Amino acid sequence: MRYRIAVVGSGPAGLTFARVLHRHGHPVTVLERDPAPDARPPGGTLDLREGLGQLALDKAGLLAEFQALCRPEGQAMRILDPDGTVLRDWRPRPDDRANPEIDRGQLRDLLLGPLDIQWGRGVTRVVPGGRDGVLVEFADGRQETFDLVVGADGARSRVRPAVSPVTPRYTGVTSVETSLDDVDTRHPGLARLIGDGSLAAYGVNRALVAQRNSGGHVKVYAQFRAPLDWHTHLEPADTEAVRSSLLALFDGWAAPLLELLRHGAAFVHRPVHVLPVSHTWTHVPGVTLLGDAAHLMPPLGAGANLAMLDGAELAESIATATATATGAGDPDGLDELDELDELDEIVRAFEERMWARAGRWAEITTAGLERLVSPDPAQALALFDRVQSSS
Ligand SMILES: Cc1cc2nc3c(=O)[nH]c(=O)nc-3n(C[C@H](O)[C@H](O)[C@H](O)COP(=O)(O)OP(=O)(O)OC[C@H]3O[C@@H](n4cnc5c(N)ncnc54)[C@H](O)[C@@H]3O)c2cc1C
Repeated sequence: MRYRIAVVGSGPAGLTFARVLHRHGHPVTVLERDPAPDARPPGGTLDLREGLGQLALDKAGLLAEFQALCRPEGQAMRILDPDGTVLRDWRPRPDDRANPEIDRGQLRDLLLGPLDIQWGRGVTRVVPGGRDGVLVEFADGRQETFDLVVGADGARSRVRPAVSPVTPRYTGVTSVETSLDDVDTRHPGLARLIGDGSLAAYGVNRALVAQRNSGGHVKVYAQFRAPLDWHTHLEPADTEAVRSSLLALFDGWAAPLLELLRHGAAFVHRPVHVLPVSHTWTHVPGVTLLGDAAHLMPPLGAGANLAMLDGAELAESIATATATATGAGDPDGLDELDELDELDEIVRAFEERMWARAGRWAEITTAGLERLVSPDPAQALALFDRVQSSS
């Protein structure tokens, strides 16, 4: 049986899921709210780890292409204190492929490949339990049914309410993102300061992080503890007002660090929300979640990796089971209900694996956020040293 499978969302989770199914010849419908792949900026750089994101790419048959595109030198990490003193200057060995960086846009294009995405198809609600399968309702009023609906629609998932009443909570840490272009020619001093990878400076309840993307593009994140509504007095489009407000927050920091904010082009507010560390749900036949929809956690280098491995593992389990049934000849044929039960068992087993893995990473990243944006900046350095010595 070829199950009718839909995945909602074409982020790292949804695309990896679809790409692995596609590799195994299993059809899948990809439903994406954005009207086109380049409808909004793709975002910054992602580090993809051996055993997580890289394993997922291997399952998709894309590891060699990733290795040709990625930036191993982007693993470099320089840590400063707020007065600009360099405390750590870590560079990877030339052959180190543990955690290389790739631009999100490059990763998206790599995963998209031959996939046929249904763009501009925002899902508003998913209703399990129907006689003809799981009902998907769209923003334009249309409806469709599937045997399995996979919610890979990120932090504000519209699929999640079909399995879980839980919603993300604010961590008390917010992040304001800005960026610099052509850094090597326009800001050579900053380019040298940032180096090949990332720079981070930690102060009391504040951090400034700059990450090199490809093509001389740098993303800068000002992170600090603040109430969720700290910026309500600011007009988001008023770049100069946001800049002044950030410069006041980081008052007294070394001039080169403040240059990162002074030269930033525009500012995007990204408060850090999370789902509970061990977010699970009572299994609902025909619906599941992947990636941030299932286990949103602080953005400390795990979310996309986990999202991709979730997608790859679920797709591989489905494809393997389908191939086994077909390969065995199945002379009498399983009746359709048995086959849907089998699909359900696959999803159930996958959820258990995903919850266990995501729970471990949610603990690590939640504790990490507490240390990186902390009243005691020495904790951030201690965390960095511990991670480096254990890797
Ligand atoms: C600043 C920052 C830096 C990060 N750095 C890293 C890193 O280095 N490494 C790492 O592993 N992780 C990192 N993360 C985390 C990572 O970005 C996320 O965990 C990852 O993108 C989750 O992938 P996803 O596919 O689950 O969801 P998303 O990437 O959020 O994709 C969801 C998709 O679903 C679509 N969608 C949403 N709603 C609907 C709807 N109703 N109908 C149809 N489509 C819908 C969206 O348009 C989107 O395409 C970072 C996060 C941030 C914020």
